[in-house]
Amino acid sequence: MIIFIDPGHGGNDPGAIGPSGLKEKDVNLNIATIVKGILENHNVDVRLTRNEDTKAELAERVNMANNINADYFISIHINGYTNTSAFGTETYAYPNSVRGIELSKSIHRNLVAEIKLKNRGVKTSNFYVLRETVMPAALVEVAFISNPVEEELLKEKAFINKAALGIAKGILELIDIEYNEENENNQHAEGGISDWAKTAMEWAASNEVNITDGSMPKEPITLERMITILYRYHKLKDS
Ligand SMILES: [Zn+2]
Repeated sequence: MIIFIDPGHGGNDPGAIGPSGLKEKDVNLNIATIVKGILENHNVDVRLTRNEDTKAELAERVNMANNINADYFISIHINGYTNTSAFGTETYAYPNSVRGIELSKSIHRNLVAEIKLKNRGVKTSNFYVLRETVMPAALVEVAFISNPVEEELLKEKAFINKAALGIAKGILELIDIEYNEENENNQHAEGGISDWAKTAMEWAASNEVNITDGSMPKEPITLERMITILYRYHKLKDS
């Protein structure tokens, strides 16, 4: 199971821009990165069409997903409209794509439940990324960056986290993986260090010992990292 997440726009294409200057491309990437983290904590293989502020053509994005036979494609966007009073959340699927609509409904329902903005519904559209992807696809418009109130929300870390959580829950529900808050807490609490390892980690990262900076506590260890830790321990014993 491979999920492709597509943070819309990027590089010299900012997407929609809010009244105070917030750029859609940055919000899209923030949300996509958090969605990826949540899904990975549930052992889902996630790829991003971009993981930095770079430009990628729509055809490139679609080809990335098509070439590796991804199972689902989810494009993340923030709406913009000339009438700055427009507000709410909407999600798009390709017309008559039964599984695309199913995916869109699951994401939309969970997203609206988390962020509680106006429910503008699941709609269909001929958007390029929906039409040209061979797998079921959805395009989410989380909120209106053109609306000053929603632009302010989009600047809040808590709101971005909720939006990402809603999208991730919608994907997990569709692929029949139960959302487990524990997975999240274990990863994020105290920098991701498990209770049983805390004392040792504090010791290892303390100024007197300093054999690790305590980063990447859950990552598998490479030979070079292991040798470096042993070397620093060896030096410590000598001093
Ligand atoms: Zn967009």
